[in-house]
Amino acid sequence: PAGKTDCDVMVIGGGPGGYSAAFRAADLGQRVILVEREPTLGGVCLNVGCIPSKALLHVAAVTEEAQRLADHGVSFGAPSIDLDKLRAFKGATVRRLTDGLGQMARLRKVEVVRGTARFVGANRIAVETGEGAAREIGFASAIVAAGSSPVALPMLPKDPRVVDSTGALELPFVPKRLLVIGGGIIGLEMATVYSALGARVDVVERLPHILDGVDRDLVEVWTKRNAHRFDRILTGAEVVAAEAGPDGITVTLKDEPDPRTYDLVLQSAGRRPNGDGLGLVEAGVNVERGFVPVDAQMRTNVPHIFAIGDLAGAPMLAHKAVHEGHVAAEVAAGHRAGFDASVIPSVAYTDPEIAWVGLTEAQAAAQGRPVDVARFPWGASGRAIANGADYGLTKLIFDRETQRVVGGAIVGPSAGDMLGEIGLAIEMGADAADIGRTIHPHPTLGETIGMAAEVSLGICTDLP
Ligand code: FAD
Repeated sequence: PAGKTDCDVMVIGGGPGGYSAAFRAADLGQRVILVEREPTLGGVCLNVGCIPSKALLHVAAVTEEAQRLADHGVSFGAPSIDLDKLRAFKGATVRRLTDGLGQMARLRKVEVVRGTARFVGANRIAVETGEGAAREIGFASAIVAAGSSPVALPMLPKDPRVVDSTGALELPFVPKRLLVIGGGIIGLEMATVYSALGARVDVVERLPHILDGVDRDLVEVWTKRNAHRFDRILTGAEVVAAEAGPDGITVTLKDEPDPRTYDLVLQSAGRRPNGDGLGLVEAGVNVERGFVPVDAQMRTNVPHIFAIGDLAGAPMLAHKAVHEGHVAAEVAAGHRAGFDASVIPSVAYTDPEIAWVGLTEAQAAAQGRPVDVARFPWGASGRAIANGADYGLTKLIFDRETQRVVGGAIVGPSAGDMLGEIGLAIEMGADAADIGRTIHPHPTLGETIGMAAEVSLGICTDLP
């Protein structure tokens, strides 16, 4: 490489992709420098994504559950919300994890440089460390993990009452009326939080349905269960204009004559990769609409420069970023490695949760691929009934020819925690007998996965 090399591996971005790559590379004996522009490590996920949202969703789920206990004779009264304390709980959760990352970096002797990185050549970056100062760093390999940012909708006014997910997670206040633009995972998670805090919520989704990509039978269960949360879920609907006024943000939808006014508007209409502005072109790296195309070794078209995480493409999920980070670090350290996961799980941590992995029924139909589908409604699960979750559903999808499980989905409490078993079954090439003949603990919600497999085997389960 041209110029002085200050490290073996330069990692740009300290999110799940970047810190995982940096730590793995250091563990493999590489000299690693990690550049992060924000004051803490952890990226979107730990600071303004997965973790703070889950802290608030936990509070939301427990609040709702406590209210439901009134039907069983235990009443707590209406919740009283102390937003400062709630914010402090969320902040402490995040800090504990981001502080832990700092310690892990120190233990591994990963040098963390605070500043904004930009490629100035194929083996050099310049880091803006503040007040105009720049430090140039030479590297043998680079792993770019610069992540993504929320898309800003052009028709929305610049106003503190129009927020993205980061703004919503700050819990500025509890609005009386909240409009969520975008019925994907992030929008519905935030809608869940705010509704538990007392807001009335409308959701607008441009596509024909919310939670695009999830089978409709699961979404129907979810929608029924969430009917109390939403005044309106408008699908195939579009915001065409919005205006800030003294009473709130007045929003006009296409084909709706009467505008409505909201105290808070959350835009969660997608995320855009941070590929522009990194100087990747100076390093000769191809960028396509902000994304950086990579091969199975996570190499860009420039073989010693890797890209991972949200920057490298969908799905934009932390566990995918971590997995890719490990692959890139191993390849950079000279190991034979590649990204060969056959499935990447997805979870909406709403109330109830929806979790899915592998092929969906809709995808199988679109591909004309013959599959057998086994459904286990939780109304036949003793634990689900005892937990007040008899509305849930577990579904397994088998390839008709091989009888191997190729997909699965769960709607109900803790769906995300249970999904790992189905992912493992798919990766291991398991069939219905492998899953159904495995003794699952009774009575658990996870047992419904074994029971769904038994449905497929034609075995009538005796245990409720
Ligand atoms: P990021 O986490 O985006 O990190 C990129 C880092 O690079 C940032 O810290 C950024 O400051 C830094 N950076 C960028 N450019 C530069 C530069 N030029 N110089 C220096 N530093 C730079 N995913 C899940 O799997 N589960 C969830 O429950 C989940 N919940 C979410 C909830 C919300 C509200 C949001 C917004 C996202 C959620 N996600 C979730 C998605 C998840 O956060 C991302 O997929 C994940 O953070 C991607 O990791 P990454 O390493 O690719 O990038």
